[in-house]
Amino acid sequence: MNEKIDIQSMDLKELTEFVSQTLKEKPFRARQIYKWIHVKLASGFDEMTDLSKPLREKLEEHCFLSLPQIARCYISKIDGTRKYLFRLRDGNIIESVLMKYKHGNSVCVSSQVGCRMGCKFCASTLDGLARNMTPSEILGEIYMIQKDLGERISNVVIMGSGEPLDNYDNVIRFIKMLSDENGLNISQRNITLSTCGIVPRIYDLAKEDLQITLAISLHAVNDQRRRELMPVANKWSIQEILDACREYYSHNSRRLTFEYSLVRGVNDSPEDAKALAQLLKGLNAHVNLIPVNPIKERDFRQSDNSAVMNFKNNLEKYGENVTIRREMGRDIQAACGQLRKNYIDALESED
Ligand code: SAH
Repeated sequence: MNEKIDIQSMDLKELTEFVSQTLKEKPFRARQIYKWIHVKLASGFDEMTDLSKPLREKLEEHCFLSLPQIARCYISKIDGTRKYLFRLRDGNIIESVLMKYKHGNSVCVSSQVGCRMGCKFCASTLDGLARNMTPSEILGEIYMIQKDLGERISNVVIMGSGEPLDNYDNVIRFIKMLSDENGLNISQRNITLSTCGIVPRIYDLAKEDLQITLAISLHAVNDQRRRELMPVANKWSIQEILDACREYYSHNSRRLTFEYSLVRGVNDSPEDAKALAQLLKGLNAHVNLIPVNPIKERDFRQSDNSAVMNFKNNLEKYGENVTIRREMGRDIQAACGQLRKNYIDALESED
């Protein structure tokens, strides 16, 4: 038998075609099915009680509908942050985080199983890339969390494991479906995509004319230093990234975010702050400082509190808009990709 179709990755137009051409049903059925999948967040066709039994059977025969399963969920006693380990249909494990803010619930999603970018401080990339995630799997992270929490998710950041612009088509489709008024209808203004700086893809993204916030993982103020931290910097220079950012801005006038992980003695000096302010001059930029989360495989250390505050004050002195990323869920595991890696390593050592 042929591979079943991933119905949850189809947009409403494709689903309408599929329903009329393949299933030979009336087109309005597509809207009903779409709503079951993307608004009522059904996890199986048997839940779709206003469809006839023969139609549900046909759907079952041609398609699959599977939300990721919760393998583990850790809830912070400090701030209610939840870290989820999800098991995908093929057994792969990914992680997602829910953060509760006054302004709403924000989910940080993974976009790939693993990552091939090789950033030195990041745990997600230590075992390389296993595979890209499908639109339905990325949507599934949010759907499952919304169901588990019983509250609406209002913000999404594509900042979990993986490089979203290395899985471009699936991520764009994910964003469009997430913000579709026929689905969860999360405003594009409440969606942030974070990239290590794949320049040609930033130009492509600009052309999509989306209203999402673009965040650039900069982490260094010159190319030489950046190459030491991020292999992707061997391909594109900081200036090339900034040019691409200007192009992005010219399309949608969305303020740009620059992420800067502070590593003690590597990129946290007052000179670095000054150089960073100079680089970003004239861009409508917002700097997000992240005290680096140490991972056991590498010996990067976090800048101490006073260095972080000095760095922030220096940037502000030069007119930059700065926030320090609050560490959420401190009591339930640390940096990006660590949870997944620890879980998989533990399983392997049991074998
Ligand atoms: N691939 C994307 C999104 C992934 S991670 C990107 O590179 O932007 C989201 C952010 O967390 C990135 O800025 C990344 O560089 C940063 N990050 C990863 N591991 C970290 C760590 N151990 N400490 C601090 N920041 C980290």
